[in-house]
Amino acid sequence: MPNKTLNAKLLWMQFEDVLAPRLGLSVKERAVYCYLLRHSLVVGKLRLQFAVMAMARTLGLAIGAARQAVRRLDELGTLRVLKRNKTGHLVEMRLPEKIRALRLGRNGASGPTGAAGEPPASALETTDFLKTWALRKAIHDRERGACFYCHRRTPAHVHCLDHVVPRVRFGRNSYRNLVSCCLECNSRKADRPARDFLRTLYRLGRLTAAELDGRLRALKDLAAQFAYLL
Ligand SMILES: [Zn+2]
Repeated sequence: MPNKTLNAKLLWMQFEDVLAPRLGLSVKERAVYCYLLRHSLVVGKLRLQFAVMAMARTLGLAIGAARQAVRRLDELGTLRVLKRNKTGHLVEMRLPEKIRALRLGRNGASGPTGAAGEPPASALETTDFLKTWALRKAIHDRERGACFYCHRRTPAHVHCLDHVVPRVRFGRNSYRNLVSCCLECNSRKADRPARDFLRTLYRLGRLTAAELDGRLRALKDLAAQFAYLL
């Protein structure tokens, strides 16, 4: 790669929107991957020699945690540890689009532009985000602890995942059809479309006009968020 200019915007979106949630990376693994990427591919080097101790110090991590993050990133195929000795690690980094497990096409996801044999639709559209704890967590993390509908903050143990387009209307378990919401909204919304439910919340005085506007915009953004992948 190194003679090819990196598209920083695309790289950032691939990392935040696809790689980290799909592989279920922890905060520490995210930090280590970003650190290593910054000192390798971002500056045109495919391979990087680094000392775990120095990296751990920079990132404010315990050495054991930093070492474990490198090991897991290697297992996930985001990098390859070529050598490990007293002076440190020698790794070969991979861009999100080169990671086999993600099956990314040139636009950031597998799709019509992907390599032959890959599924035709976006990975975010075809992945079942209810399948694993890490994938479900990615949806909750996106809403940052607030209910997508009423925007109240409730304790994490009462958050649930709701289908924007209900399952009875063939809504999928995809990244943009699932939102994190409070238990109350989840049971009140039931099988209604999200837009209708938001208007009900407004009529009941649970949302102000400005909040309703904001929530309807968030709903629209959710649909548009990954248009670049399709
Ligand atoms: Zn709610």
